Amino acid sequence: MNSSESFIACARQELGPDRVITDRDDCSAYERDYFGRSGQALAVLCPKSTAETSAALRLCARYAVTVVPQSGRTGLVGASTPDDSGRQVILSLCGIDQVGHLDAANRSIHVGAGVRMSRLRQVLAPAGLWFPFDIAADPCVGGMLATNTGGSHLMRFGDVRSSVLGVEAVLADGTVVDSLKALRKDNAGFDCKQLFIGSGGGLGVITGAVLALQRRPVARVSALLLPHSHERIPELLSWLEARYGDLIISFEGLSGNAIRYAYRAFPDLPQHFEASGIPDYVVLVELASAGLFQAQSLAADVHDSVAQLVSRAAIRGALVGDEADYWALRDAVPRALMKLPRVISLDVAFARSRLTQFRVAVQQLLSTQYPGAVLADFGHFGDGGDHVTIVVPDDCPTGATRLALMRLRVAVYDLVAEYGGSFSAEHGVGPLNESAYRRYTPPTTRRVHSSIKRLLDPAQRLGRLGMT
Ligand SMILES: Cc1cc2nc3c(=O)[nH]c(=O)nc-3n(C[C@H](O)[C@H](O)[C@H](O)COP(=O)(O)OP(=O)(O)OC[C@H]3O[C@@H](n4cnc5c(N)ncnc54)[C@H](O)[C@@H]3O)c2cc1C
Repeated sequence: MNSSESFIACARQELGPDRVITDRDDCSAYERDYFGRSGQALAVLCPKSTAETSAALRLCARYAVTVVPQSGRTGLVGASTPDDSGRQVILSLCGIDQVGHLDAANRSIHVGAGVRMSRLRQVLAPAGLWFPFDIAADPCVGGMLATNTGGSHLMRFGDVRSSVLGVEAVLADGTVVDSLKALRKDNAGFDCKQLFIGSGGGLGVITGAVLALQRRPVARVSALLLPHSHERIPELLSWLEARYGDLIISFEGLSGNAIRYAYRAFPDLPQHFEASGIPDYVVLVELASAGLFQAQSLAADVHDSVAQLVSRAAIRGALVGDEADYWALRDAVPRALMKLPRVISLDVAFARSRLTQFRVAVQQLLSTQYPGAVLADFGHFGDGGDHVTIVVPDDCPTGATRLALMRLRVAVYDLVAEYGGSFSAEHGVGPLNESAYRRYTPPTTRRVHSSIKRLLDPAQRLGRLGMT
């Protein structure tokens, strides 16, 4: 029996045969992520509890096997699936899906790492509570914590980190770190749970969490605003913030090109604009009130605001009323763009004040050096985020080869750095943006990262972080 066979035999013995998948067909579902990118695993281990996760990691340590923690496989940096070596083990946490104590008075809930976002929403709705992360995918809590998910409401409620009270995680050697308190303040020493949030599974495997919840909004109003020009969007946002304060929960930007691709990919999508009349840029703004006091006047007030913004020449019009349709369009955009060939897709962030300047610089770069390439970006404008998507035509004079796309990618990343931005706004670091990590992260920061990694995972066996 070779070492791999012996590992699998021991795993079956310790975890039970139903927790260990080795059949090639059965493994393949776990080896593929949302984009269909795939590698090959030695085996898939499926623990159903923290104790089983600990046993699985102890075993992997004993056999010096590298482990890829995995949840909903919706991560966008290629870090939730194994490489092609056939030697890495996938540790699927989806089975730890127990919903624990819902403490309505504390506005908190204890959940297993495998609980899906959609299920959490269903559990919380009857209690009038809300975990304020609605994204166009259905990840698990563990994956959301590991990637520190953002989403459309980040400008109001922060990233996932801001909504986590406690974490339970298992280290590479099987040690359980229990930091599962339901406290909103706790300054009794270093805050260990923060190490695991946003660590991409490279420092420990998250098995459970206590989440801080919001009151579910009782009134929500969304509108599509058509700005006169992209440059005037910061002014538009300031005006809305002065009027509505914290009632603004989303301020999303959609380029006209991104909308065009969404209409093309999903012909059944409600079409608010004629093909010839799609604006250059559209803003989807959402207001929400969790208190009855403001809720009653919200919808009426939005109509008044639109009239005022038109008279100030900040917008040339707006659509109000078909909220679900506006969000269907917003959510269709990333799914449409992900299907396109010859595309580069970056998730970057800036100080809000610099986002419009960056977009102008990208457009200049494309028109001078990549004629025919199309900027089809969209993103969370309200928090400075932009999902830069560039579609390169077959006949681009600069070329549409892999090498040409790589050069374009680096050129745009260089612009991101020039404008003081981040090369990874929401999705973390993984095989897909590892080279950007090396290029743009200051050496001292990288040294701190690798010291922490060495402390918690000295044998470097956990995760596909690409940060060592
Ligand atoms: C259509 C679409 C839209 C999206 N929109 C947004 C958006 O608006 N904002 C945003 O932030 N993200 C967005 N994402 C990205 C994605 O949904 C998040 O990164 C997500 O939270 C990942 O969760 P997951 O359960 O799918 O994790 P996976 O994809 O399975 O894993 C992601 C990473 O976390 C690690 N990991 C997974 N589970 C654990 C665990 N229990 N313990 C330790 N490490 C673990 C993995 O090793 C991997 O590195 C979108 C994705 C898609 C496909």
